[in-house]
Amino acid sequence: MTDVISLCSDLVRCRSITPRDDGVMEVVANFLKAAGFETNIMVSRSPDGKNEVRNLFAKCGSSKEKVLGFLGHVDVVPPGDGWDSDPFEPVQKDGYLVGRGVCDMKGGIAAFCCAAAEFVQKEFNGSIEFLLTGDEEIGNYEGTQSLLDWCCKTGNIPHDCLVGEPSSSIVLGDRIYLGHRGSINITVKAVGKQGHVAYPDNFKNSLSDVCRFVVHMLNYEWKHDDRRFPKTNLEPTLLFTNNYACNVVPDQTSANLNIRFSVDYDLSKLKEILLKESRNFDVSLEFIEAGNAFYCDDDRLKSLMAYSIKDVTGINAEFSAMGGTSDGRFIISHCNTIEFGLIDKLIHQKNERSKVQDLIDLEKIYFVFLRKYFLENKDK
Ligand SMILES: [Zn+2]
Repeated sequence: MTDVISLCSDLVRCRSITPRDDGVMEVVANFLKAAGFETNIMVSRSPDGKNEVRNLFAKCGSSKEKVLGFLGHVDVVPPGDGWDSDPFEPVQKDGYLVGRGVCDMKGGIAAFCCAAAEFVQKEFNGSIEFLLTGDEEIGNYEGTQSLLDWCCKTGNIPHDCLVGEPSSSIVLGDRIYLGHRGSINITVKAVGKQGHVAYPDNFKNSLSDVCRFVVHMLNYEWKHDDRRFPKTNLEPTLLFTNNYACNVVPDQTSANLNIRFSVDYDLSKLKEILLKESRNFDVSLEFIEAGNAFYCDDDRLKSLMAYSIKDVTGINAEFSAMGGTSDGRFIISHCNTIEFGLIDKLIHQKNERSKVQDLIDLEKIYFVFLRKYFLENKDK
């Protein structure tokens, strides 16, 4: 049987920089096939035809009594410069496994693959499904959504879903995500009239117009009624003008803002607020929607996961809705969803790494979860 460290290392060796695949889906599929899963790699394309995304659906068990899904992504963000070792040649150092994607989230995939491969060798009444995608890191427009469309058409939507994204904070097992805030991107634009800074009567400063509106929104009082979520916050992420001279005012300025919002708001409500607030400013707004906030408060899944963590690590996990959004936002409308995995502190950084022991313990936690879910939790 392949161990979790060697499977994780095999996955990291594939340079699956989003949305490239570089053979990584085959590695997962071959592993699962050997364990008795039926596998189906599907290819979908972005609407402009530029990006090809490979998604994997794998299933073991024919009973529809209980169907547990595992949702994850095999793509990684670009490594960037300054690594101490080759980001795609995993190395073990000081008790850590180092490589791009070890935490986000090839380690979680390897741990669940190994746990499921061992579990399905026993009799169990139900099915385990893998829903893996290859474009989560670029916003996921052809990955999880098209996989879920296919699952709907073919009757393969799971009853419950575990998202294996990194969720732990300081030590493995200290945090389970039950949801995340929503996200929306806004571009604020102003068009003015270029001129010499010394002649205010002769120009219209687009930069001032944009700044006034951004400052106004930075002072906006967001409500915070639903305390399961962190407070809604708005952050400017980019300011751009077409001028670099210090004695000229620019006639074109744009700023990008991102809002992370709780269930106190939704995308259409936020658009309405921003448009209303912009009325007294000489700016125009464009919106790019990323997704609404979501939360799953299923007591059965919560206690199963908390028990599994405590059983292996002795830790009492806290439930949280912090962190960036995940693919859980797509599947939550179909089934109960819970998110648990490795420590998220080093994701997207250089020298991304996980303790070797954490990978081993994560496989154990997932195994206990499977056992409890299928064999001891009969009330589904
Ligand atoms: Zn991720």
